[in-house]
Formats: sequence, C-alpha cells, structure tokens
Amino acid sequence: MTVMQADDGEDFSLVCDGCGLIVGRLGANLHNWDLAWIFFKRHGWVGSGAADGPHRCPRCLLQDAQPLARERTTAALSTGQ
Ligand SMILES: [Zn+2]
Repeated sequence: MTVMQADDGEDFSLVCDGCGLIVGRLGANLHNWDLAWIFFKRHGWVGSGAADGPHRCPRCLLQDAQPLARERTTAALSTGQ
C-alpha cells in the first residue's frame, strides 16, 4: 500500500515501499494522486503510476546503487593484483 488516505478522504500521503519514508499532507497542494505522482516522478521517485504502488523514493534508489558501485570497485581492485 503506497498511498495512505486520511480520514477525511481528501488528504493523502505517499509512502515509500523501500524505506517507509512518508510524505504527508499532499491533498492540500497536489489535489489528487495523478498530479501528485507527476510531481514526485520529477523529483526522482520511481514506480507504478497506480496509487497502490509500488513506489520508491530517491533515497532508496541511491542505496541500491551504492552496493553495486562497491562490487565494481572490489572487482577492479582484485583484477589489478
Ligand atoms: Zn525509500
């Protein structure tokens, strides 16, 4: 579940499926899911265009990339020996 609806049914929050990061109170500024997702995609979020996700925040994408970079560095070092 990626989008959490507030009790009043108008406000909502986006939740990262990777780290649980919650960006709250989107309804007041972004009005609905479609507009909100266009906004978040511009800011580096990736995932499904559907409100129920999954979606991942830029922080998670960064963390995914780092172990890969480390493996490449290790491989390059062991090749050099
Ligand atoms: Zn995340």
